[in-house]
Amino acid sequence: MNREPVMTTDLLDRVRAFVHTELMDKASYFDALPEQPTIESVRLHEAGLANWWIPARYGGRGVSLEDGVDIVSELAYGDAGFAFGSFLPILGTTMLQLYGEESLAGPLLRKLARDGGVLGILGSEEEAGSELGRTATVFARSGDDLVVTGDKYFSTNSDAAEALLVLARSADDDGDFAVIAVPRDTPGVEIVKRWDVIGVRGSATYQVRLRGCVVPAGNRLRGNGLRNLEIGLNASRILIAATAIGIARRIRDLSMEYAAGKRVKGVPLTDNAVFAGKLGQIEMLIDVMRNQCRAAAAEFDRLMAAPDPAAVMYRAGTLRSALAAKMYCGQAGWQVATIGSEMFGGLGYTHDHPIGKLVRDMRYVGIVEGGDDVIRDLLYTRYVVPAGKRR
Ligand SMILES: Cc1cc2nc3c(=O)[nH]c(=O)nc-3n(C[C@H](O)[C@H](O)[C@H](O)COP(=O)(O)OP(=O)(O)OC[C@H]3O[C@@H](n4cnc5c(N)ncnc54)[C@H](O)[C@@H]3O)c2cc1C
Repeated sequence: MNREPVMTTDLLDRVRAFVHTELMDKASYFDALPEQPTIESVRLHEAGLANWWIPARYGGRGVSLEDGVDIVSELAYGDAGFAFGSFLPILGTTMLQLYGEESLAGPLLRKLARDGGVLGILGSEEEAGSELGRTATVFARSGDDLVVTGDKYFSTNSDAAEALLVLARSADDDGDFAVIAVPRDTPGVEIVKRWDVIGVRGSATYQVRLRGCVVPAGNRLRGNGLRNLEIGLNASRILIAATAIGIARRIRDLSMEYAAGKRVKGVPLTDNAVFAGKLGQIEMLIDVMRNQCRAAAAEFDRLMAAPDPAAVMYRAGTLRSALAAKMYCGQAGWQVATIGSEMFGGLGYTHDHPIGKLVRDMRYVGIVEGGDDVIRDLLYTRYVVPAGKRR
């Protein structure tokens, strides 16, 4: 497989070619909860494109998060669910790379780079989704091992994952949170069900139970698990935001195709000033979404390039730019989806046209990894209040 560094434009061309041959015109297939791993994700790996961000020292391509924004936009142009499932392991690889012991992180990252494959992130619980401080999953020390027990509500990619990165609380100390790597084949890992989600159905999200899963103590990542997760979420939130760009570009292009063949008041819809205004508005939103995602990703890349990225990221925690990217793209993307939903008339309200799927796919941007209320709360408490915590 070709592993030499490549120019981003070349890489982007290859991603576009992949999207064209493997993802386009498969809306019904991806919308039908395809079995995982999909043949398309196997082909993404065969094309040398899976897990594109894993650093070169682990045998990966080492693509920056900033360039990853455009890769995700392209994949999401083909199918947002496929894009989501493909990039989400970045949440786990970021935590492993920064806070995992080399004996844990090295082999896992090398395997993901060499063989493709995914990681599952098990944060959310039924009573602790946004409020992860209420996590009820526990770990207990047993000699040189840790025993992990609990129920996790939502977790994408888990069934096909190499390993599950589980957020748990110490059975002995309520304030001690850890992220612990649990290999998927560990006895006691049970997939309870696959969720019948309403959008991004090309990905797969599960409810998972952990019944006394025993792993070496070295599988615990260094530091506070809540902080570890915040840092990984910076990368995945920016890429969730980037899926909105791809979906919005698809809505724009479908609108142009439709308008070319649709006549209103005796002229093609493309010559109608109201239509032109809508498409101009969409283009503005797409451009600002992309700029915010790339700016946030560039900040993430800068911190990761620091001499001691683990310490620098740990101090930084949740990045304002990543929060802003996710919330802005969720809202701007929803505006585009609304325009798109009206664009195709009654046809747009049927399953015969892909716009309905695109609207459902777009909705996940403003929900997964924090709804807008949660993001606003984080922006307020972390970035508005500070300056000596005010008052
Ligand atoms: C397709 C999909 C994939 C997912 N994948 C994963 C995964 O891989 N790993 C994982 O761990 N999780 C995953 N999740 C979980 C997802 O990240 C959470 O569902 C999401 O963050 C929302 O959290 P919640 O469900 O706890 O709802 P909440 O955030 O609790 O929201 C419920 C209600 O409470 C309100 N609310 C919550 N907090 C505040 C606040 N601070 N201020 C005001 N109002 C508030 C909300 O506005 C909302 O009305 C996935 C979910 C989906 C749907």
